[in-house]
Amino acid sequence: MEPIGILSDGQIYDLQTAEALNLSGEEVRADNSPESLEILRHSCAHLMAQAIKELYPDAKFFVGPVIKEGFYYDFKVEAKITDDDLKKIEKKMKELANARLPITRSEITRETFFETFKNDELKLKVIERITDDTLTMYTQGDFVDLCRGPHLPNTRMIRTFKLTRVAGAYLAGDEKNEMITRIYGIAFFDKKEMHDYVRMLEEAQKRDHRKLGTELELFAFNDEVGAGLPLWLPNGARLRSKLEHILYTAHRVRGYQPVRGPEILKSEMWKTSGHYANYKENMYFTTIDDQEYGLKPMNCIGHIQIFKNKLVSYKDLPIKFFEYGVVHRHEMSGAMHGLFRVREFAQDDAHIFCTENQVKDVIIEVLEFVDALMKMFDFKFEIEVSTKPEKAIGSDEFWEKTTKGIMEALDENNIPYGIDEGGGAFYGPKIDIKITDAIGRKWQCGTVQVDMNLPERFKAEYINAEGEKEQPVMIHRAILGSFERFIGILTEHCAGEFPFAIAPTQVIFIPLADDHLDYAKELNKELVYNDIDGEIYSMNESLNKRVRMAEKRRVPMIVVIGDEEVKNQTIALRNRRTREQTNISRQEFMDMLNELKNGSRI
Ligand SMILES: [Zn+2]
Ligand SMILES: [Zn+2]
Repeated sequence: MEPIGILSDGQIYDLQTAEALNLSGEEVRADNSPESLEILRHSCAHLMAQAIKELYPDAKFFVGPVIKEGFYYDFKVEAKITDDDLKKIEKKMKELANARLPITRSEITRETFFETFKNDELKLKVIERITDDTLTMYTQGDFVDLCRGPHLPNTRMIRTFKLTRVAGAYLAGDEKNEMITRIYGIAFFDKKEMHDYVRMLEEAQKRDHRKLGTELELFAFNDEVGAGLPLWLPNGARLRSKLEHILYTAHRVRGYQPVRGPEILKSEMWKTSGHYANYKENMYFTTIDDQEYGLKPMNCIGHIQIFKNKLVSYKDLPIKFFEYGVVHRHEMSGAMHGLFRVREFAQDDAHIFCTENQVKDVIIEVLEFVDALMKMFDFKFEIEVSTKPEKAIGSDEFWEKTTKGIMEALDENNIPYGIDEGGGAFYGPKIDIKITDAIGRKWQCGTVQVDMNLPERFKAEYINAEGEKEQPVMIHRAILGSFERFIGILTEHCAGEFPFAIAPTQVIFIPLADDHLDYAKELNKELVYNDIDGEIYSMNESLNKRVRMAEKRRVPMIVVIGDEEVKNQTIALRNRRTREQTNISRQEFMDMLNELKNGSRI
């Protein structure tokens, strides 16, 4: 495989740049490594821009970065481009690729740049973000673009690509700016990888939680209510309440105590916490009796005040508070996406107050909790430690000490992790939990954050062994992240086939005739007493039709009731998932359901 770039000081450079700057480093080859894909995909973004420019000569281009799933390019054209135009652009890209155009790099001064692009308002916007005196340009055929690279040596190396969709995007991601066009695409060096990826996309589309959420009547959104504000329908609310219940018990057996703080707190609280200075644009405010209040975007402050409500001894630590805290955050209107990104959501939030010496053990214990929960839903997960971001509060000493503490805890327990440099919260380093779903997609869910800053700001204290006041460490932690997002991910992960323990309806009874209805009702009532949800399909339809209706609901168990069953007090059970049909006694049935339900004890 031919070399396409080098890796020097953790930075990817293309061959053109390596030659111009006389750089050396580890070779990057066209082998589907993340570095090689970055060069390929970025080059493909340029190839797409070149094709667009040939098809739409008035096109002006903003930026074309590589993202987790491929690449995009933001641009502006007179014509309205839709998904139907993608084939045409792809065809032009193939042509340009086949022409094997060399991709060359050149340097120009800012003056030359302004002269060349004086009529291109988008490029002038791009240059606002760059302070370098010397700018680099990349040329392929007639197409020239301002860019830092990295690029492939020629267009022929871009063979396997696909444009996936057209979207609108605010210029520079700012809602106040005009909307321009964005096209997303993907590229691989190898056909099989592309094939697998396209299959994954198709599968993802089938599993889209917005589609399943409507089909299974789990939740709805309504513009009259407001964007990003989900309405939980009865099926979804039952599912959610079961998940909440399972998690409640799982917290209690681990020594957490339920608490609840208010939804709105005086702005002074947010000033003390630092949110007013650092997070205000994401918060909602209201005024009551001339006093400004902020709607909580996080539950931390309430829990600190609860901690401070009584005198705490070191013997009481660690103290673990949990709450399904409803929070509101201002997300940009373009960023909302089903349950994945909403403006109101409930976190499975907990705050653990402990001594500095207990931090490691607490982190390990939290990770055991994560492990148990993710196993229950068949999610694999990985861990990433995020370090000090640019916008941060607290001393360097605090950052160093806590970051090191987290890494030591993980190392000592042989838990592998990655590092996200600069990805920490503004008040402390954190551990991010990323789960992998059934079709290989990764999702950021829970976090564990170590915080010595908020206890200091709010003067939270406990009495140590010497009888002196000391400041506790506060550990923020959420495992699912939010119920909304997690249920969205879970819906796609299991394609709507929820585990028995949380399935909205666990059993559907189908009485063959009116004579069998009473027995069905009796059984259903017994289910309710056992916290299991059943439904009776007694509508005037054929047995087959009713079975099909029940199957469409993806309900785990279907129970058919006829003369035999009523007479013998048995049930004919159809396990929809294993496709087995069994005749069992009423007691065996109840025992089996309870056992399945208790499988959720974690
Ligand atoms: Zn470029
Ligand atoms: Zn918190």
